[in-house]
Parts: sequence; structure tokens; C-alpha cells
Amino acid sequence: MRAELLTVGSELLNGATINTNAAFLARRLAELGLPCAQQTAVPDRQEDVVTALREALARAELLIITGGLGPTFDDITMAAIAQALGRPLVYRADVAAQIRRFYQRRHRTLRQAALRQAYLPHGARPLANPLGTAPGVWVQDGRRQTARPRSTPRYVVALPGVPREMRAMFDRRVAGRLRKLPGRTASASVTIRTVGLVELHIQQLLRRLRLPSDLQLGLYPDLQAVDVRLTATAPSAPAALRRVERAARRLERALGSAVYGRQERRLEEAVGERLARTRLTIAVAESCTGGLIAARLTDVPGSSRYLRGGLVTYHNDVKRACLGVPAALLARHGAVSAPVARAMARGIRRFADSDIGLAVTGIAGPGGGSAAKPVGLVFLALADRRGVQVRSTRFVGDRAGIRAQAAQMALDWIRRLAAPRR
Ligand code: ATP
Ligand code: MG
Repeated sequence: MRAELLTVGSELLNGATINTNAAFLARRLAELGLPCAQQTAVPDRQEDVVTALREALARAELLIITGGLGPTFDDITMAAIAQALGRPLVYRADVAAQIRRFYQRRHRTLRQAALRQAYLPHGARPLANPLGTAPGVWVQDGRRQTARPRSTPRYVVALPGVPREMRAMFDRRVAGRLRKLPGRTASASVTIRTVGLVELHIQQLLRRLRLPSDLQLGLYPDLQAVDVRLTATAPSAPAALRRVERAARRLERALGSAVYGRQERRLEEAVGERLARTRLTIAVAESCTGGLIAARLTDVPGSSRYLRGGLVTYHNDVKRACLGVPAALLARHGAVSAPVARAMARGIRRFADSDIGLAVTGIAGPGGGSAAKPVGLVFLALADRRGVQVRSTRFVGDRAGIRAQAAQMALDWIRRLAAPRR
């Protein structure tokens, strides 16, 4: 069964509103085994909605529409559905009664215009709106008729535009009905989260692995990290899960230590788990990241087991006073340098009495760069009982991007350092 989405609203086309309804519904449809094949967004103009409806219904058996159900002049979705399906709009006393009750319960006076929402396409089943007045509809079209004996039924579902109302209505009134439709595919997905490998490298690995060709693959890069999403379809959900799981395990073996988790797992959670397991404690001294690393570490509940603390040592005076970075070192090499990063890591380890000391110093830009020390240059240092290591990298991006990448790389370094020894 082919499913499509049609979102109605001029605000979606001019960028004033992000189309979160489409994202929500596409996710839900995929989970229900009715993957969304196409999405269309149209302005609040009846002709546009009718055209889009007709085109979509020529391709799809299920069309879900959001927006334009309200009582105002720009709410034209019901009229458009009626027109596209060649049915009259009819006044529904039962829906009108529901709208009246909605107003009474809230002690508000009913405006006559609200009753516009009681007109539904002939034969439509109203879907009660638990959070607002605009009802949705479920319309079945192309029922087996004598003229077209083999025509498959098509379903048009209209939901309000307000995201909160739309989501509640979909989950309470629509999902159950969709589960009963025939022709759903069973699918299962695994997202493998990696850090430190570039997309092209992962693509090469994937090619060598020769995973089943009908497996869907997606690579989603972001900030030194790439998520690899695998989706398998099969006649049943358990079969799809088995197929995707087999492929995911092979890919995870090939990706090795770059993998830090699956699905929604965050890098800071993986770091925390390793630190907790190896019983290592850490403290961080941050300059250009301004506390981002400490913020991410403390985002994880229970992080007090391994995080001793963090200092934002921005000014040289503070690097000297809190971390004991020698003034001569700062004068000779500058704050953004390998020797200073090393001294900061040693200093924070001593200050916080932790097993690991991590330090970051760099030039986040947009100003402050030079030929020798360009914007994006970042030094990371890690001190532990064996000594101190330093790394330098040149990140590209704006200030926020450079800071975020530096934090990401620092967290990954800790994760790798705290890997349990085999
Ligand atoms: P109402 O009863 O409020 O008039 P409606 O069904 O007519 O409901 P709209 O008027 O189209 O809905 O939109 C109401 C609100 O929901 C607006 O603030 C709009 O920006 C937001 N909205 C509409 N469509 C979407 C969408 N696809 N994604 C995110 N927000 C949306
Ligand atoms: Mg609208």
C-alpha cells in the first residue's frame, strides 16, 4: 500500500513554520509498515489543495492531510476533499453537538463560525479532536462498486494543523485503524552511531561487506560523527528484525571502535558507561569550549560517579592561578599551544585529584586567528598516571561548529582511553 502525506499551510511554504507534522507522520507511518512514499506541501488555497489531492490519489492508496481544518476563511481542507472526491459537504448534527459541548465545558460562548467545522464530506467518518474543536475525518473512497468492481479502496485522513492536536489525534484515533489495513510491510531499522570516521571511509567499508542489496542504507553525518541507518523489510516483523540485526552485527564488527552505540544513544552516555565500568575519574579544563564538555558529561544522570569537576579557564591569569600553568610557558608559546594544553591537563588532574585530566584550548573564531594559529586550531590534551598526550586539529566551521567539534572529539578521546582492556 502506497502512503503519502499532504501538508496544507502557506506558512510551511514561506519558511515561517517548520513542517514538523510531516516528520512526525513519516516516522509513525514507517513504524506502522506504511512507509511514506511522497510528501507534498501546498498553500492555503483550495485549488492547490484539490490539485494536490487528485494527483496524490492517482498514485497512493493512503493519503494523510494536515492543516486547514479550522473555522476561519483560510481553512479549506474539508471543502477541497469534498471537491476532489466529488462529494457534497454535509452538515453533521452529531459533530455540531460535539463542538457545542467543547465550548460549554470551557465556559466559552460558541461563535457561529465554529459550526463551519460541522460540515464534512458526505460519507466521512468524523475523528473527535480531544484537544480542540476541529474534528478530523477518515474517508474511504473507491469502495467496490458495480461500475469498477476491482477498484481498491483508498483512504483519505485529514487531521488538524496544530501539532499537539494532530499528534494526539493520530495516536488515539488513526494509528489503530491503519494497523487494520492490508498491504502493510514489516520493517525494522537499526541506527549504528559512529564517531571519528569520515563518511567516505564508511561507504568503502559498506561496499566491501556486500550487505544484502535490498537492505536500505543511509549515512547521516554530523560533527565528527556519522550515523548509519539500516532498514530491512520482510513478510513479518520478527523476520525483518532478524535480517537487520544480522547485517548490523557485521557492520559493527567492521566499524570496530568507532561505534559508540545504537539508536538514540549519546556519546556522553557511552563515555560515562566506560568511565564507570573502569572506575576511572575525570576532570576537565576548558578554554575555547567554555564548559560544553562538562555540560555534556553532566547531562548524563549519575555522572558524579566519574566526573570530579570542570573549570572554564578562559583568561591566562586563571590558567595560571587554578591550573598552575607557568607564566613563562604562556608567554613563550601562547595560550593556544601544545605545551599549554599539556600543562592544563596536568593541572586539572592535580587540582581535582582525578585519574584523567582533559584540557582543551583553541581558537573558535571568527576573529583571533593568524597565519601560524588559524581559526579552528584546537589543542586537546589528556593526562593520566602514565603521562600526558596532546593532539592538535584544525576544525572548519563557524564558532559554534568549531566548539561543538572540539567537544565531540574530546569526549571520543576519553571514550577510547577508557576502553576496557581485553
Ligand atoms: P485550527 O483549528 O487551529 O485553525 P487548523 O487545522 O486549521 O487548526 P492550521 O490553521 O493550518 O490548522 O495551523 C494551525 C497551527 O499549526 C499554525 O500555527 C501552524 O503554523 C501550525 N502548523 C500547521 N501545519 C503544520 C505543520 N505541517 N507542521 C508544523 N506546524 C504546523
Ligand atoms: Mg493553516
